[in-house]
Amino acid sequence: MTHTKCLIIGSGPAGYTAAIYAGRANLQPVQYCGMQTGGQLTQTTEVENFPGYPQGIDGNQMMFDLRQQAERFGADIRDGMITKVDFSSRPFHLWTDQDEEIVADTVIIATGASAKYLGLDDEKKYNGQGVSACATCDGFFYRNKTVAVVGGGDTACEEALYLSQLCSKVYMIVRKNYLRASDVMRKRVEEKIEVLYEHNTLGLYGDNGVEGAHLVKRKGEPDEEKVDIAIDGFFLAIGHTPNTDVFADFIDRDSTGYIKTIAGTPRTNVKGVFAAGDCADPHYRQAIVAAGSGCMAALEAERLLNQ
Ligand code: NDP
Repeated sequence: MTHTKCLIIGSGPAGYTAAIYAGRANLQPVQYCGMQTGGQLTQTTEVENFPGYPQGIDGNQMMFDLRQQAERFGADIRDGMITKVDFSSRPFHLWTDQDEEIVADTVIIATGASAKYLGLDDEKKYNGQGVSACATCDGFFYRNKTVAVVGGGDTACEEALYLSQLCSKVYMIVRKNYLRASDVMRKRVEEKIEVLYEHNTLGLYGDNGVEGAHLVKRKGEPDEEKVDIAIDGFFLAIGHTPNTDVFADFIDRDSTGYIKTIAGTPRTNVKGVFAAGDCADPHYRQAIVAAGSGCMAALEAERLLNQ
């Protein structure tokens, strides 16, 4: 059994930043990396919008650097998942997928969110070679090129509008015959973007990364029609799932699973449990925002322990 003053769950920018701050505050944090060490940034190619890297930085390299920085200040970084928690009293009890029990005086949840994918084999095949789930991260690589955004919600509209400022042509691939997005968003999109209503994606093609998508219009209807579009980039915007289910019995979440925090703080409804990064942020979902909230969570943990 491990007893720690501060347990950090997750290893994206929020988790590592929390570990750096907690380490420097001599809390000797224990950090569990989760299923995808380094988090979502390890799925992107180059990160160009994190301040301090004028030439950009490879996402994996950045997470490796953050990890080393956290280790330098004494973070005990471990592979593995937290699979069960008991936050009914402090200190808190948590269990790993290796059945190890952790007792923690404070907990920082930084488990992130996972972009939803359609589930096509081609999404994996072309991952980082034309397939992306983050227009803000990767849009810049598609300047003056043709791209498609999948989804019909507000996120898809925002991503498509963002891309329309960079790309020569943007399609939206929408499975229904309407956009689910808000009115204002819908109007903006319809002015600028070619929306392919009632289209589903069957697959992607290309010898050197994505060169096009195979679509089907009005799938299953008598007038079903197969259509190919030539594109250089395929952006998923069909929603994110925050990785918070394991905390559901104790931590207040919104209807889509994002952890609710007290406005302007990383405090949750349980004193001593903090949430940072995308697991508590349905709005911005940016590495720099996650890093900032990881810092806030560690400062809050330190203050509580010093009370
Ligand atoms: P939503 O759940 O609102 O939309 C998801 C979209 O993806 C829907 O159009 C859905 O289609 C489509 N979709 C889901 N699964 C598939 C699939 N397998 N194949 C094809 N299409 C699929 O998610 P968002 O991320 O857009 O938004 C989440 C929340 O955040 C919403 O409440 C939204 O309003 C809010 N938001 C607000 C913003 C703003 O106000 N500026 C910006 C971004 C998000 P279908 O409609 O057919 O189900």
